[in-house]
Amino acid sequence: MAFESLSDKLQNTFKHLKGKGVLTEKDIDAAMREVKLALLEADVNFKVVKEFVADVKAKCLGEEVMKSLTPAQQVIKIVDQQLTELMGGENVKLSYSPTGFTTIMMAGLQGTGKTTTCGKLANYLKESGKKPMLAACDVYRPAAIDQLEVVGKACGTPVYTDRGCQDPVKIANDARAEAERKGYNVLIIDTAGRLQIDEELMQELQNIKEKVKPHQILLVVDALTGQDAVNAAKGFNEKLDVDGIIMTKMDGDARGGAALSARKVTGKPILFLGTGEKYNALEAFHPDRMASRILGMGDLLSLIENAERDYDEAKAEKQLERLKKNQFTLEDFLEQMGEVKRMGGIGKILEMMPGVSSRQMQNVNLDESEKEFRQYEAIIYSMTKEERQDPSILNASRRKRIAAGCGLPVSRINTLIKRYEETKKMLKQFSRPGAMKKNRMLRG
Ligand code: GDP
Repeated sequence: MAFESLSDKLQNTFKHLKGKGVLTEKDIDAAMREVKLALLEADVNFKVVKEFVADVKAKCLGEEVMKSLTPAQQVIKIVDQQLTELMGGENVKLSYSPTGFTTIMMAGLQGTGKTTTCGKLANYLKESGKKPMLAACDVYRPAAIDQLEVVGKACGTPVYTDRGCQDPVKIANDARAEAERKGYNVLIIDTAGRLQIDEELMQELQNIKEKVKPHQILLVVDALTGQDAVNAAKGFNEKLDVDGIIMTKMDGDARGGAALSARKVTGKPILFLGTGEKYNALEAFHPDRMASRILGMGDLLSLIENAERDYDEAKAEKQLERLKKNQFTLEDFLEQMGEVKRMGGIGKILEMMPGVSSRQMQNVNLDESEKEFRQYEAIIYSMTKEERQDPSILNASRRKRIAAGCGLPVSRINTLIKRYEETKKMLKQFSRPGAMKKNRMLRG
C-alpha cells in the first residue's frame, strides 16, 4: 500500500515527541524538519511541502499547543487536520445529472488504468442503484475496444461499440441514444489514451467535451508515477477543466506523493482510489480517513463500509440459523473465508486497523495466508458433500483419501479441521443473545 514509508517516518517522529513532557520551539523545529523530509521522500511536490510545513509549524507554536498538558498529541492533531485539508478536506462524491441521465467521460494517459477503472466505476454505479452502460470511444486501437468488451462482460455491463466509425463524438452520441432507449441512466465513455499528453489527443478530448457535454469528466492517473501523475493531472485539467480525479494503483508501492499533492496542484478533488486489479477495487476517497491511515490511526470506517458492501445479509442470516442449530458446515467455513477474500484479503483488512504499523504488516506473511486459503479451498473441494456437511465423519482413511485427492499432506487437513472448529466456537460466542447488540454499540 502507498504511504508505508511516510507513515512509518511520521509515526516515528511523533513517538519521539510523545516521549517529551514539555515541547520547546526547538523540538517543534526538529520535528518539522523530519516531517518535511518524510513528505519530500514520499514524492510530495516541493512547493506543497514547504507550505504544509510552514502552516503546521505556525499552528504548533500557538499557545494552546505549547501550554497544553499533552503537547505531542496536539501536534499530531494539527498534522492530521492539515493532511486532511491538503487532500481536500471533505469527501467529494460523484455527481449525477439532474436530468436523470448522466454521462461520464473518462480521460487519462495510456496504461494508467482507465479502461479497468471504467469497469470498476460501472460496478460502483450498479451498487449505487444506477444502470450504467459503457461506450468504446478509442478509435485508434481496436485492442482497446476488445479490452472494454472484456471489462464489460466481467462486470455484467453492456458496451456500445461501432468498429467502423472513426468519430468518437458520433460513437458517444449514438451510445447515449441507445442507452436512453434501452433504459440505462449512466453512460461511461472510455476515451483514447496516449503515452504522453499531446495536442492531438487534447483536441480530440476537448471536441468530445464540447459536443457530447458530459456531466462529469473524470481523470484517471497512476499513483505509481508520482509527480508525473500530478503533472499529467495538471496538463489535462488545464485543457479539459475536469471534475475529479481517480488515483489508481494505490495498492502498489507508490510513495503516496501524488495522492497528497494532486488536490493542491490541480485544485481538483480525488473522488476515488483504485486499490487493485479486480473490479471491486475502487474506494471512495475520504481525506480525513486517509490522514488517519497515514498517521497510523487506522481507518475503521472504510473497513466497516467495505464489510457492509461485501456483506450478504441473507447468506449471513442463514449461516447464523445453521450455527444455532449446530449445523455450521465446512461449506459455511469456506464461505466465511470467501468473505475475507472479497474484502481484499487479510492484508487489506489489517491495513485499515488502527495501531497496525506497516512494520507489523511486514511481519504478517500475506503470501502465506493467501496460500493457506487456497489450500483449504482445495481440501474442501476434494471432500464429498456428506463430509463437507458433517466433518465429524472424517476418520483417518477419509482424511488420507482427501489428502491424495488434493495433493496435500494429511497434516494440512487436520489443521483445517482445527481452524474450522475454532471458527465455529468463535461464531457461537458471537451469536449468543446480547453479543450482536454489543457489536452494534461498538460500531456506533
Ligand atoms: P489504460 O491503458 O489506461 O486503459 O489501462 P488499463 O485499464 O489497461 O490498465 C493498465 C494495467 O493497470 C492493467 O494491468 C490493470 O490491471 C492495471 N490496473 C488498473 N488499475 C489498477 C489498480 O488500481 N491497481 C493495480 N495494482 N493495477 C491496476
